[in-house]
Amino acid sequence: MRKINKILVANRGEIAIRIFRACTELNIRTVAIYSKEDAGSYHRYKADEAYLVGEGKKPIDAYLDIEDIIRIAKQNDVDAIHPGYGFLSENIEFAKRCEEENIIFIGPKVEHLDIFGDKVKARNAAENANIPIVPGKEVQNEEDIREFAERYGYPIIIKAALGGGGRGMRIVNSEDQLTESYSRAKSEAKTAFGSDEVYVEKLISNPKHIEVQILGDQQGNIVHLYERDCSVQRRHQKVVEVAPSVSLSEKLREEICEAAVQLMKSTNYVNAGTVEFLVSGDEFYFIEVNPRVQVEHTITELITGIDIVQSQIYIAEGYSLHSPTVGIPEQKDIQTRGYAIQSRITTEDPLNHFLPDTGKITVYRSGGGFGVRLDAGNAFQGSVISPHYDSLLVKISTHALTFEQAAAKMVRNLREFRIRGIKTNIAFLVNVMQHPKFIKGEYDTSFIDTTPELFK
Ligand code: ADP
Repeated sequence: MRKINKILVANRGEIAIRIFRACTELNIRTVAIYSKEDAGSYHRYKADEAYLVGEGKKPIDAYLDIEDIIRIAKQNDVDAIHPGYGFLSENIEFAKRCEEENIIFIGPKVEHLDIFGDKVKARNAAENANIPIVPGKEVQNEEDIREFAERYGYPIIIKAALGGGGRGMRIVNSEDQLTESYSRAKSEAKTAFGSDEVYVEKLISNPKHIEVQILGDQQGNIVHLYERDCSVQRRHQKVVEVAPSVSLSEKLREEICEAAVQLMKSTNYVNAGTVEFLVSGDEFYFIEVNPRVQVEHTITELITGIDIVQSQIYIAEGYSLHSPTVGIPEQKDIQTRGYAIQSRITTEDPLNHFLPDTGKITVYRSGGGFGVRLDAGNAFQGSVISPHYDSLLVKISTHALTFEQAAAKMVRNLREFRIRGIKTNIAFLVNVMQHPKFIKGEYDTSFIDTTPELFK
């Protein structure tokens, strides 16, 4: 056991604030880092202490400046670093540097980052744990892909081994696209992720994206907190998430959650992680593991009552999940109640290819009320949204006894918001919430692309 007294959050925006809140409730002092461009950012003021990071570096690179973050941590008696999501959250070198400096990295072990940061290694781990995976293959050249396509048929999808965030994927519909797609996939992978290693998978047509939240402690206990349905996607990126899934049969839900636990047990996983699957009919296939907290963790918290970020901190301190302090019951007693939905309000213009908008927020009035949780970044009047970082402004999570009620709450909330001076996707999100296919749970990953009326 090692008591944590001070945590540095190596991140910005809503997730930094979310983690500070968890810390404060645990009586842990908080440290923010901010780039020059983020000097007026909200997260800076939400921490007990804040320090400029990565001076002279580009806006994103400032938050990736490992040595400067370590310097700030050491100079200010930080015991632990929470990396949030994105930025350094899956960076092996960073986790190792923390270890060397005797700073706790709040996340899984280096070995887990190593396995799950590489989708090919992750697929192998799943195969070894007898989890169904999408038919796929590591490829060295075009011929390898051609052979794969001859065996499984088109369409196929070429993916970057180190890819993430919906990027580094290319669908190939027929043989004549293969040469170009392969060379593009490789060069994109190299530019975006520093390695041109790619692999190929059979394209599962119109699947649902179902993912299972996992928590594992240092004593070897692993539990799942049920699933989230993240099928409402644009360009392979999540837009709206639902927990639990509306359309999964009880049998399939159990099988998928079991499979997720089995995989994480087989790697002795520690801390929070998510196992992602594609579901088509009664079949499910593993795609990847995210070894970190996710944007959509809020809806699992709402339906289970379990604080995932605080659990991460307790686990890092050495507590067992089932200890009285943490209070998570045994698996059989972990229950969900009702339905939760998360919408991501972004400063993107749905009528103009979701182009991120920038500028000053002149009016900001938010929603709220019973069954509503807001996790906001720089969402306030006078805030200047810069082009340097992602366009997530505020996450709305609603919770109610039925899915319809949760959706109605979301619509009511979205409509209560007044955000002026900058474009947002609010009208688009209202259209999603009210669409009959969404309400009935009859949507899959093709929903947004195949539903033009959402853009009206
Ligand atoms: P990332 O790490 O970039 O998020 P994932 O492997 O998690 O990439 O996939 C993201 C999304 O891309 C999935 O939710 C799904 O919509 C789509 N996708 C990925 N692999 C396949 C596949 N083999 N068949 C169909 N869709 C896929």
